[in-house]
Amino acid sequence: MNCNEAQSRIPDFILGKVEDDVILPFISHVNHCEICMDELEFNYCVTMATKQLNEEAGISDNYIQELQNKLEEEVENYKHRKFAFYRKRFFLILEILAIGILIGLKIFN
Ligand SMILES: [Zn+2]
Repeated sequence: MNCNEAQSRIPDFILGKVEDDVILPFISHVNHCEICMDELEFNYCVTMATKQLNEEAGISDNYIQELQNKLEEEVENYKHRKFAFYRKRFFLILEILAIGILIGLKIFN
């Protein structure tokens, strides 16, 4: 992922709407690219400050830490979704095998 691609996804990332197939390349890029991380931090701070002002909620005093937590959470969430996906696939394959064995037993008995 290049800088243009990463920066075009910053608003979606802040809203939690980056697609699964680009979330890891996006996070990896911003973690290794100072320019994009600066851009992400700036956008995140502005977005969250505006949101909190509109909601009249307490204003955070540490957006950068919140952003770091969000980056880590997104990686964990991605891993959980992938694990759930492969677990589902695994059980589907087991079911197909079990049905195949049952059909095989029925035919040969
Ligand atoms: Zn970059």
